[in-house]
Amino acid sequence: MTPSSPWASVLVPIKDERDNLSPLLESLLKVLDSHEHSRSRPFEIILVDDGSSDGSSEELDRLALLHPQVKVFHFDRNYGKTCALDAGFRHSAGEIIIQIDGDLQQDSEDILKLLPLLSTHDLVCGWRQQRQDGLVKMISSRIANRVRNVFTHDGVHDTGCPLKVFRRAVLERVRLYEGMHRFFPALAAMHGFTVTEVPVRHYPRIHGLSKYGMGNRLFKSLYDLIAVRWMMDRVLRYKFRDK
Ligand code: UDP
Ligand code: MG
Repeated sequence: MTPSSPWASVLVPIKDERDNLSPLLESLLKVLDSHEHSRSRPFEIILVDDGSSDGSSEELDRLALLHPQVKVFHFDRNYGKTCALDAGFRHSAGEIIIQIDGDLQQDSEDILKLLPLLSTHDLVCGWRQQRQDGLVKMISSRIANRVRNVFTHDGVHDTGCPLKVFRRAVLERVRLYEGMHRFFPALAAMHGFTVTEVPVRHYPRIHGLSKYGMGNRLFKSLYDLIAVRWMMDRVLRYKFRDK
């Protein structure tokens, strides 16, 4: 890494978040600008427009013109959050990867709580101790987390929390498939990376609509568990002798 390469890349998947974009960027820029690393190195914020149709695309282009740290990529249609995160990562150059949603349900300032733990861990996950979602989503997420823990023993309370920070090596090693962004802690741990969690704040969605509910998340992610469990059993692990 050279001094001119970004110390951090923030990845944000965007599907129809028009009214959230300006306040989101304002808070992300404020937080990252305040970080000591930003005195000597740049950072980048990568927003992947996942086939938005509510005017987010135009708003993203407008914001990218205003802020040189902001990079925008537009998919030709909607592919889902895992694709958006994967594409964002592949276009990133940061030593540290910060993942956050574009819906303002997380607090950008909490990034500063997670970052220090990267000195001892490869992946730091947020833990939404007080979820501010509707009852159905809260219950389905709690069931999914419990079941996931039984199968994967990933040791975190909130594997699906959208606020996470990674050492770049983790995402270089983990291969993503649709839905796998919900299993980052298990996928990282199975490759020998260390994982921890930190409580973060959570807010109700004010603008725009949630795209995930019981039908397209709970049941799909229970099915995905089979794949994760299989990968955990079959992952390649080997070491050379010292001499
Ligand atoms: N998102 C996306 N593609 C999709 C659905 C969602 O990029 O097909 C983004 C969305 O804009 C948000 C994040 O993924 O930034 C999480 O989506 P949402 O808030 O709707 O999910 P929830 O938090 O309700 O599970
Ligand atoms: Mg959300």
